[in-house]
Formats: sequence, structure tokens, C-alpha cells
Amino acid sequence: MFTLVSFNLNDMKKSACFPGSFDPFTKGHEDIIRKGLGLFDEIVIAVGINSTKNYLFPLEKRLQHIKSCFQDEPKIRVITYQKLTVEMCKDEGCNYILRGLRDVKDFNYEVPIALMNRDMTEIETVFLVPDTSLFAINATIIREIYKNGGKIDKYVTNFDQLVN
Ligand code: ADP
Repeated sequence: MFTLVSFNLNDMKKSACFPGSFDPFTKGHEDIIRKGLGLFDEIVIAVGINSTKNYLFPLEKRLQHIKSCFQDEPKIRVITYQKLTVEMCKDEGCNYILRGLRDVKDFNYEVPIALMNRDMTEIETVFLVPDTSLFAINATIIREIYKNGGKIDKYVTNFDQLVN
């Protein structure tokens, strides 16, 4: 006797990875994740490790900080990776990549990468736009403010978890 199993693509778990260096993880990143939680069943925050890059905040602190922002959110996982982003997505069971878009500079940088990723693997990239108040938040500027003794806790949730 045969059992007919119907398979609906809409039933597939929607899992997205949000890759980045998060040096540091800002309220802009957080906003994209919180908006993404309404769209995806799971979001994997993937902290990329690039051995040629000098990070300001140590990896362990960045991980501790990101986890502290989502400790009550069961749909979030935080991982590190050191490979092609699409390979990490396959390993983690992610069928989407989530990225944030602030301006044309982000658009010009992100779209060719999204096209290449889709060409290689059929993984789609979903872009979300942050709240207008968060448009100007940029990890590079935040690092400069911090390096020069300025306060950044306004732009970074749970700032104490990043430095203690
Ligand atoms: P990367 O070095 O890979 O750009 P980032 O940590 O700078 O890593 O950024 C990761 C993602 O977060 C990117 O898609 C970037 O566009 C997005 N992002 C960064 N800052 C903001 C912000 N203020 N609002 C929305 N998206 C943002």
C-alpha cells in the first residue's frame, strides 16, 4: 500500500543567516534582525572571521554581546565562521541570507554579492531597511568614536557586555 505524501514549498522552514563582522553589533544590525524575526522561522547571526582583518573588539566579547541582546529569543542562534558565506549557509541549513540596506553605497556593494551567491547556490538574499533613526549608524564610525574616547552606548544595546 502506498501513502501519498504531499509536499508544499511553503511548509519548508525559512531559515536566514545574517552574516557580518559586527565590530561592534549596533542598533542598526539589531533592528534588521528584529524585523527579520517576523519573516523567518530562524535567524543565524554568523560572525565572519577574516584572518587578514584587525578587529577592534575581540571575537569572544562580540559573541557575548550579541548573545546578550537575544537571550530571550529562541529563534536566534549565534555562530562564527571562516569560509564562503554560502557554504556556511548550507552547513547551517539556511536557505536565505539577510542583509541590511541603508543607502546606494550599500546597494552597489550588496547586489553583485547577492547575485553571485544566488548563481552559485540558489540561496536568495533578502534586504531589509532599518528605521530612519538608524540609517546613519555605521560600525566604522562607531569604532572611530570609541577609539577617540567618545560614548557609544546610545548606538549599541547592552554596551557593557561588549567591554566587560
Ligand atoms: P560587513 O563588514 O560584512 O558589512 P557589517 O557588520 O558592517 O558587516 O554589516 C552587516 C550587515 O548589516 C550589512 O548588510 C550592513 O548593510 C548591515 N548594516 C550595518 N549597519 C546597519 C544599519 N545601521 N542599519 C541597517 N543595516 C545595517
